Amino acid sequence: MDKDGIAMALIVQKYGGTSMGSIERIEHVARKVASWKQQGHALVVVVSAMSGETDRLLKLAKSIDPRGNGREFDQIAATGEQVTIGLLALALQKLGVPSRSYTGWQVPIHTDDAYMKARIQKIEPERLLADCKAGIVPVVAGFQGLGPDGSVTTLGRGGSDTTGVALAAALKADECQIYTDVDGVYTTDPRVEPKARRLDKITFEEMLELASLGSKVLQIRSVEFAGKYKVPLRVLSTFVEGPGTLITLEDTQMEEPLISGIAFNRDEAQITITGVPDRPGIAAAILGPVGDANIEVDMIVQNVGGDGHTDFTFTVHRNDYERTLELTRRIAAELAAKGVSGAADIVKVSLVGVGMRSHAGVASKMFKSLAAAGINIRMISTSEIKISVVVDEMYLELAVRTLHKAFGLEERQAA
Ligand code: ASP
Ligand code: MG
Repeated sequence: MDKDGIAMALIVQKYGGTSMGSIERIEHVARKVASWKQQGHALVVVVSAMSGETDRLLKLAKSIDPRGNGREFDQIAATGEQVTIGLLALALQKLGVPSRSYTGWQVPIHTDDAYMKARIQKIEPERLLADCKAGIVPVVAGFQGLGPDGSVTTLGRGGSDTTGVALAAALKADECQIYTDVDGVYTTDPRVEPKARRLDKITFEEMLELASLGSKVLQIRSVEFAGKYKVPLRVLSTFVEGPGTLITLEDTQMEEPLISGIAFNRDEAQITITGVPDRPGIAAAILGPVGDANIEVDMIVQNVGGDGHTDFTFTVHRNDYERTLELTRRIAAELAAKGVSGAADIVKVSLVGVGMRSHAGVASKMFKSLAAAGINIRMISTSEIKISVVVDEMYLELAVRTLHKAFGLEERQAA
C-alpha cells in the first residue's frame, strides 16, 4: 500500500534491552532494519537501553539518595536509551542506511510531570515523518519524554513498549512491531506445558488478561494504549525469524477459537473469615481496612449462611499474606466472627478467550476436566472472557496441562 507516496507501509519497530544487549546484537538489529527498508517500507525504530543498564543507572542514583528526587532519577535513567539510539543509528549508517537518532525531547514526545511514571500527552510527529519521506530511518529513545517545564521524564519500567505504540498511533503507522527475546505469545507458559503453541493472533482484551496474569511479554500499558488507538501490534523475536503473534481487534467476521490461552498466577494467597454475622456493611467492614492498608484484593467470595452467619473469602498477593492475616484477625475479633484461616500455597489458573462470549458450557467443561484429574477447586470467578479457579499450588502444572489438552490448545487451529 502506498502511504502518502512514502513507501509500501509505515512500520514502527521497537527493540528491547536484550536485542540491544551488545554491539554484535545492535549490528544484528541494524541488519534487520536495513532489510525491511530494502523491501520498500518506511521505518521508525524505538529502542530500549542495553539490558541491565537502567537497573545500573537507578542503583547509582539510589546509592546517593535512596528516596531520591524524581526529576534527577529520570535525568539519570534516561541516559541508557540515549546511548543505544546513537549506537543503532551509527550501525545503520555503516550499512549505508541513512539514519538519525532522537531523544524523547528532540522528537518531542510531551508527557505530564509524573516523574518515573509519566504519561504521554502529545507527540509531534512532523520531524519523524519528514525523515521517512527523505528515506531516513529515525531511531527514537524509548521510555522517555519531555515534561511540561522542559525536564526529562520517564514512563515507568518497561516503558519503551509504550513509546513504540504511542509513536505508531501518532504516525498512523500500519503496524507496531515489538521485537523481544520470545517469538510470540503462547497458549500458556512452555515451561509448564511443553506442548504450548505460539498464537498467530490474539485480541487486545485477551492479551490484557494474559499479561496481567503473568505472561510478561509486553508492558500492559502499551497493550491498553494499542487497543485504545487501534494500533495493530505484533510481538516477534529479534533472534528467530517468524511471523510472531499479531495482537489486534476482535474479528467479528470470524469464528474465534473458544479459548486462546491459559494464564496462571503463583503469587496468590487466600484468607477466610468464618462465621461473620450476616448483615449490611460486612464486606465493607472487612475490605475497607484491607484497602486502607494498601493491600490489593483480587478474588472475593461470600456465601449465604443459613444461621445468620456467613463465610467470607478473598485472595491477596502472597507478599501481603502475613500482613493481611494479622489485619483480618483484628477485624474478625471486632465483628465477633468465629475464626480466620488462610493458605499461602494456592495458585490461580485462568482460561482466557473472547470465544467464550458466544459459547455456553466453557465453565462446566473446565470444572469437569479438573474434577477428572482429581483437582479440587477452592474458588471460582468469571468474567465475560475469563474463568479463573484457585487450586492448591501442588496442582498448578497438572491443572494447566489438563486444561490445555481439554480445550485442544495443542492442536493447530485454523488461521
Ligand atoms: N530501559 C527501560 C527499562 O529497563 C525501559 C524499557 O526497557 O522498556 O525499564
Ligand atoms: Mg522491555
